[in-house]
Amino acid sequence: EVVVRLRGVYKYYGEKIAALRGVDLEVCRGEFVAIVGPSGSGKSTLISLVAGLDRPDSGYVEVLGERISGWPPGRRAVWRRRSVGIVFQFYHLFPLLTVLENVVLPMKLAGVFRGRERERALELLELVGMKDKAGRYPGELSGGEQQRVAIARALANDPPLILADEPTANLDTLNKRRVVELLEEVHEMGKTVVLTTHDPGLAGRADRLVCLVDGAVVRCGGGAG
Ligand code: ADP
Ligand code: ADP
Repeated sequence: EVVVRLRGVYKYYGEKIAALRGVDLEVCRGEFVAIVGPSGSGKSTLISLVAGLDRPDSGYVEVLGERISGWPPGRRAVWRRRSVGIVFQFYHLFPLLTVLENVVLPMKLAGVFRGRERERALELLELVGMKDKAGRYPGELSGGEQQRVAIARALANDPPLILADEPTANLDTLNKRRVVELLEEVHEMGKTVVLTTHDPGLAGRADRLVCLVDGAVVRCGGGAG
């Protein structure tokens, strides 16, 4: 079962920059796909289209059976809450909310685990080894700790698809390893995982590598496919 399908996707920034030029891509349920390639090759752009954060200029994007690229931003935002969890390079936690509140918030917005948000958030924080810091603020945490909280938050609404954009790029070796292990656990839970990375230690855990060069998918070795 295909959960992500891109067909003939072009994305331009302004008139001159073609970030993606004719990308075709399919990801099946339960796959762990790493998108690799040089800086500026369009990896982040691809993730943002799959997340429905942006839309292509031509071609289409289907995620979980919905052609989200045809939808207006508001509809994509509502869909995104229940369908995908996103982990960013710079964590993007709300600085004025505690760790616990950061994980509770997406559940409140989606209304999926009504009345059980706090309990579930604590379970997820336990999973990522951050339960003891539930009352802290993001600014009091290291980068690695913030990223673990971000992973808990991405799982909050139990989305089938987890996306991550360079999730280990700013972490030291030990935290990199912890985040890589957590993403593997997320995959083993049955989630489909699509992420971008420059980190061979993370790319090496993927079922399949997709290589982007100048906005196009090219053949590449490595991984299991
Ligand atoms: P090698 O197999 O030469 O040791 P690495 O360990 O550096 O390769 O990377 C593991 C896999 O991830 C390789 O298949 C490589 O193609 C891919 N990879 C890692 N970083 C990049 C990158 N910046 N650009 C393209 N591919 C990358
Ligand atoms: P990667 O993630 O592989 O580094 P990106 O998707 O971030 O690549 O960028 C692809 C190309 O699009 C690059 O040339 C980049 O400079 C350009 N780009 C990305 N985002 C924007 C933006 N918001 N405005 C203008 N150009 C952008």
